[in-house]
Amino acid sequence: MSELLILIDHSDGQPRKISLQLLSAARAVASELGAEISAVWLGAGADGAAATLGAHGASRVHHWDSADAKGFVTVPQVEALEQLVGATSPAGLIFASSNHVKDVAARLAVRVGGGVITDATGLAVDGGVLVATKEVFGGDVITTSRVADGSLPIVGIAPNAFPVEEVGGAAATVVPFSVAISDAARSAPVVEVVQQASVDRPDIAEAAIVVSGGRGLGDASGFELLERLADLLGAGVGASRAATDAGWYPHRYQIGQTGRTISPTLYLGTGVSGAIQHRAGMQTSQYVVAVNKDPEAPIFQIADFGVVGDLHQVVPQLIAAIEARRA
Ligand SMILES: Cc1cc2nc3c(=O)[nH]c(=O)nc-3n(C[C@H](O)[C@H](O)[C@H](O)COP(=O)(O)OP(=O)(O)OC[C@H]3O[C@@H](n4cnc5c(N)ncnc54)[C@H](O)[C@@H]3O)c2cc1C
Repeated sequence: MSELLILIDHSDGQPRKISLQLLSAARAVASELGAEISAVWLGAGADGAAATLGAHGASRVHHWDSADAKGFVTVPQVEALEQLVGATSPAGLIFASSNHVKDVAARLAVRVGGGVITDATGLAVDGGVLVATKEVFGGDVITTSRVADGSLPIVGIAPNAFPVEEVGGAAATVVPFSVAISDAARSAPVVEVVQQASVDRPDIAEAAIVVSGGRGLGDASGFELLERLADLLGAGVGASRAATDAGWYPHRYQIGQTGRTISPTLYLGTGVSGAIQHRAGMQTSQYVVAVNKDPEAPIFQIADFGVVGDLHQVVPQLIAAIEARRA
């Protein structure tokens, strides 16, 4: 039986939520592909995660544990995957569509003659081949793509496109593999890892709720208001490029074409116009709520619920209403 490889994104020895979503995506297509689901774990810690990975549908974990996985930038991971693909001839490889892994995936595709599809929100099988759906042009068009000529499909899945579902499988069998890493792959060592100051809020790429602010906030203090709302909702805080370029909020929270891609259950945009470049990063949100004083703002075209009004009046009232309900 062939294998469908799932590249596991992990932190502190545990798979991230997106990785469990990838396993749900894999389960949706594996039997039709006639493939078993195999997780791929690069770096230390696979043994401690085998039970979780099995409970979410993986039969085995290909494990490469080497200091090279973390000690050098990108290329050792590419070489490890290249050698694993050569050894297993998988039906496909599925990864979390983050910027770092897209870099790995693109390089891998060149080496193995595969094709990359990023930010997919759906998977299916057509004629025995993996096909991916994705939303493009600000969500106006949904495309269905496949990798041509029988090449290896390497598909990145957008966050929150699939649910996390336990299926109660036995612990996955950990299968170590070793890799001969080239000298060239060791040419860019990681010299320092700087942890970002941690905030007590979920990462916007994984958060179920994201509260986002734009130029309409007026200045940086507007984000203090949004953070109060976010903390009541257990939400992450995002921003438009106009807000990050103005220095009101750090660039790492920018949502959009040149920022982060998010896919929460609820996106709440305040003072955000909804420019196409912003929508490119949030259009797969399940529900969109917008507060904007301009009834013609483009964000209302994709909003499930809109409030036309001054956010400096609407948001404090929303905060007060939530607090009153919880009192
Ligand atoms: C190549 C390229 C890449 C880009 N990438 C990105 C990207 O990744 N992410 C991104 O966000 N943008 C990106 N942009 C910029 C994008 O085109 C827009 O300029 C930007 O998204 C606008 O941000 P905004 O909605 O905060 O500001 P504006 O467009 O200025 O909108 C502000 C909104 O706030 C409303 N408003 C004002 N005051 C209030 C109030 N008191 N109460 C309620 N509503 C109020 C206004 O009615 C308006 O709709 C990119 C542009 C280019 C050319």
